[in-house]
Amino acid sequence: MSEPTFSRLRALAACLLLGFFGFCMVNILQDRGVHADETLARLLPNLLSTAPSVSDQTSIRKPSQTDLLRNNDPLPPPPPPERLIIVDAGHGGMDGGTQGNGLLEKEWSLQIAKALQEDLVQRGFKVRMTRDGDDTLELSDRTDIANEQTNHLLVSIHLNYSADPSVSGIETFYWLRQSLTVQKEVRKQFAAQAGAPITDVRSELLAQFVQESVIEVTGANDRSKKEQSFYVLRNSIAPAVLVECGFVSNQQEAEHIVTSGYRKRLARGIANGITTFLNEVQGDPMYGVTITPDLPAAPEGLVQVPNGFESLSNIQ
Ligand SMILES: [Zn+2]
Repeated sequence: MSEPTFSRLRALAACLLLGFFGFCMVNILQDRGVHADETLARLLPNLLSTAPSVSDQTSIRKPSQTDLLRNNDPLPPPPPPERLIIVDAGHGGMDGGTQGNGLLEKEWSLQIAKALQEDLVQRGFKVRMTRDGDDTLELSDRTDIANEQTNHLLVSIHLNYSADPSVSGIETFYWLRQSLTVQKEVRKQFAAQAGAPITDVRSELLAQFVQESVIEVTGANDRSKKEQSFYVLRNSIAPAVLVECGFVSNQQEAEHIVTSGYRKRLARGIANGITTFLNEVQGDPMYGVTITPDLPAAPEGLVQVPNGFESLSNIQ
């Protein structure tokens, strides 16, 4: 064999060896289920760019409603154990309340009230329900139950109705011009001197906290806090609010109300507002109450209201 022929044979052998090696590698990778195009696809994003891949991008999404529920933030510190919350499910028994989209108010106000009871008990509050079944209650029965207790709050749960089916949202009511009996009790509770004007805006503050947190947790349309003279509000000695938790006349809101997940969120929002309010009270027992002994007492026939005096006949 001549020298050039030997060189050519050696080059050919090297090529064959390389080819065989390449063939073996492809087979090994294929046996492991790895294909060249996949390997490249995996490597390229890392080699060419630091931007997240499409699959990474899909994991960056807004939390769904279920996630919000699952993602329980740490709860605020629990209130003193003696604190009692009266939860009043609106209507009941002979009084069905309003209705729309197949929902009867008395049934769903009770379901929301029960969710609220559960949430509050978990936070360490004592809870008393004005009804926990389909009972007929007079409005005075509700405030009598509430006023038996001291050191408490009253939250009344209702559902709303509008002739316009597009109307939706949540609103929280309070009333500052309590009945004379209630005013006397509040004066006694805060040891206000005879005749010293006393202003009590606790219910408005409670309404503010409840409304803000219930909107934050549910994402419902914010119809704000409103002052309105409901019987249970003007006759409750304790700070009291009435939450209209949504419109049964609005199809979407009615669909939300029948799901237990949404009711838990309503409950969580209301309970957050109550807890925030009570934490303020814990820091300052006079929170929301002002007694001004230097001011003159209310003239005869008038009573003190937040912005001055008002005739007794207007507030009864
Ligand atoms: Zn109602």
